Amino acid sequence: MSALLFILSAPSGTGKTTLARRLVAAHPGAFFSVSYTTRSPRAHEKEGVDYHFVDEARFQQMVAQGAFVEWALVHGCHYGTPKAVIDRARKEGVLAVFDVDVQGGEMIKKQHPDAVRSLILPPSLAELERRLRARSTDDSAAIQRRLLAAREEIGRARRADYEYWVVNDDVDRAYGDLEAIVRAESCRAGRRPLSPDLGIP
Ligand code: ADP
Ligand code: 5GP
Repeated sequence: MSALLFILSAPSGTGKTTLARRLVAAHPGAFFSVSYTTRSPRAHEKEGVDYHFVDEARFQQMVAQGAFVEWALVHGCHYGTPKAVIDRARKEGVLAVFDVDVQGGEMIKKQHPDAVRSLILPPSLAELERRLRARSTDDSAAIQRRLLAAREEIGRARRADYEYWVVNDDVDRAYGDLEAIVRAESCRAGRRPLSPDLGIP
């Protein structure tokens, strides 16, 4: 198969990380695109697994070297997707899952039109608020900011013509939708090479 560049975007707290990790675990050879960021690691995060954590100087050096397929300022910190991830996916012909915001998804799609973008949606704003409170990583003011940002991000994804919308109401059901998208996209015309004995030039 040729590579499947699969981009997931979602408002914070929707369940994107949960779904992305599950997708990678279920597909042999698949991998998660580990971005570079200037933000500090959270308690459970590991270098090289969740992100490559770098300082601003190193990030700017990588920008100058053209190391990123896209980079952006998100909530005051820099985030960038390394070009090396795309090269690896193309070389290995596997599923690569990207967790980037909508502006990042747009940039990757512009340069790699075969990339597929899915927006993960919360079932409602009230449920998103409940999940953010349950995660208890933010205070009330931060939760209100995230809810406002969530509406903006969904509007941006609609304007950017994301190919798929998946509602994460029940995690198993939403995961089934993502599996269905990956399966259909892997059958897209031209994605698999034709057997040489068909004799089609
Ligand atoms: P994100 O990466 O989008 O910020 P996470 O994957 O960290 O979101 O999920 C946010 C929280 O919501 C986690 O505590 C996760 O276990 C929970 N969660 C994810 N999907 C669902 C769901 N369908 N129903 C209820 N809780 C969910
Ligand atoms: P967090 O800091 O919560 O892990 O991520 C904050 C936001 O940055 C999320 O919307 C996430 O999808 C986005 N993000 C993570 N990595 C990248 C990246 O490499 N590029 C872009 N554009 N956004 C990213």
